Amino acid sequence: MAAITQLKHFSGGLTLAAHKQPSNILDSGIPNELIYPLLQRADCYAQPIVKTGDAVLKGQLIAHAGSALSTPIHAASSGVIKEIAAHLIAHPSGLTDLCIVISTDGLDTALEPEPCIDYQSESISDLRTKIQQAGIVGLGGAVFPTAKKLAAPQKIDTLIINAAECEPYISCDESLILAHAEQLIQGVLILQYITQAEQCIIALEESMPQAFQALQKATQKEAIQLIRVPEIYPTGGEKQLIQVLTGKKIPAQSLPAEQGMLCQNIGTAYAVYQAIILGVPLTERIITVTGKGIQHSQNIQAKIGTPIKHLIAECQGYTNDVQRLIMGGSMMGIALSSDEIAVTKATNCILALSSEELAAQTQEMPCIRCGDCANVCPVELLPQQLYWYGRSQQLEQCLDYRLLDCIECGCCDIVCPSQIPLVQLFRAIKGEHTIKQQQTAQADLAKIRYQNRQTRFANAEQEKKDKAAKRQAAIDKMKAAAAAKKANKPD
Ligand code: SF4
Ligand code: SF4
Repeated sequence: MAAITQLKHFSGGLTLAAHKQPSNILDSGIPNELIYPLLQRADCYAQPIVKTGDAVLKGQLIAHAGSALSTPIHAASSGVIKEIAAHLIAHPSGLTDLCIVISTDGLDTALEPEPCIDYQSESISDLRTKIQQAGIVGLGGAVFPTAKKLAAPQKIDTLIINAAECEPYISCDESLILAHAEQLIQGVLILQYITQAEQCIIALEESMPQAFQALQKATQKEAIQLIRVPEIYPTGGEKQLIQVLTGKKIPAQSLPAEQGMLCQNIGTAYAVYQAIILGVPLTERIITVTGKGIQHSQNIQAKIGTPIKHLIAECQGYTNDVQRLIMGGSMMGIALSSDEIAVTKATNCILALSSEELAAQTQEMPCIRCGDCANVCPVELLPQQLYWYGRSQQLEQCLDYRLLDCIECGCCDIVCPSQIPLVQLFRAIKGEHTIKQQQTAQADLAKIRYQNRQTRFANAEQEKKDKAAKRQAAIDKMKAAAAAKKANKPD
């Protein structure tokens, strides 16, 4: 692909107030407890390899991946396994699920890391294995296992590093660039080596001049193209960013790798640097803790598994006007019922909103078919149609109207004059669809098991019959031989 000289547009999108305050990164310190949900992504559980009472060190493996779409979990500090029990997890419906809980000892004693001096002396497959073993996932929010994404069978021409942090309030990637530009560029080069991509682009928003300068300095000797993209939400969406950079639309249900492109978040590149060069697994990440509901907004280097209340305390606590706690940004985040919930690898932001920041919420009104939602949808969906079919539980029609292509960006919600919580409805219908798919898959599996069992029974029965027939034939033969012998015997 030729160097990018002119940017393109995707349809829809919004220009939003940024509310960003990139800051120095504060170290969160060690909380009393670290909590790790075993649920990694939808229906993908990690398998614990520790039990209550076990002593663990920082960086020690405490749960295996469990499946190809899951990743291992490592302790972010030293201590003792307190329990493996149900605990509140970050989920829109306030779910509890199994979590490993570590009582920390405050010492932060770490396993000896295994650094690497020359990554190019290692095979690509070994590097991918190290990335898998380090528990690295896409840190932009999708938490897809990075090693799996790097194992795309297609030839990759272009590696795109996504630093277009387009969602309001979130500035963790910008702070990361300002603090660790040199190191994360090493991570980018490792990713380029693994993908063997000829071209590498780092995309960041126009509103990040200092980060741009830091990256310019760090990439002076490298053939990496830095591109500033306009501040239009959701430019940081993988497919939207690709469209802005290349003009190519990645079809729904299709992957960028099918068109020779691979996208990685800039935070992921830094985690790759830490895993390969320093030999340490993913146990910490930068989280933006912000909003007018807390005393002091801050980007924090947090241990994964830290309860949110610990991070809030690091920001000098709540104000008197905290109204809502959100994990993620104001557009795509989920409201939380408690600050006892722990941050995960997916947590890029904790938002404590005040009444002033919450949009004046009037009661939901009927859809007036104004079409505003369709005008801003970056995926060119018809949210009002999805709303009509979704409301009446017509799942098939929702699928026909490409429900599964919805990236839950929230643009339609923001512009809806009738204050209809569209994304909430779309998430709920998608959830129902997933449950139905799982039920169908389970029913199919049960059917296959039943058929296999019936076949086994029939085969066993046949085998029994064959054996009985063989035995009878042998007896008959013996009898016939005996009779013949008797008949031939002289009196
Ligand atoms: S923006 Fe709201 S009121 Fe207008 S068509 Fe969409 S759902 Fe209906
Ligand atoms: S939330 Fe879904 S339907 Fe609404 S604008 Fe975003 S992609 Fe379109």
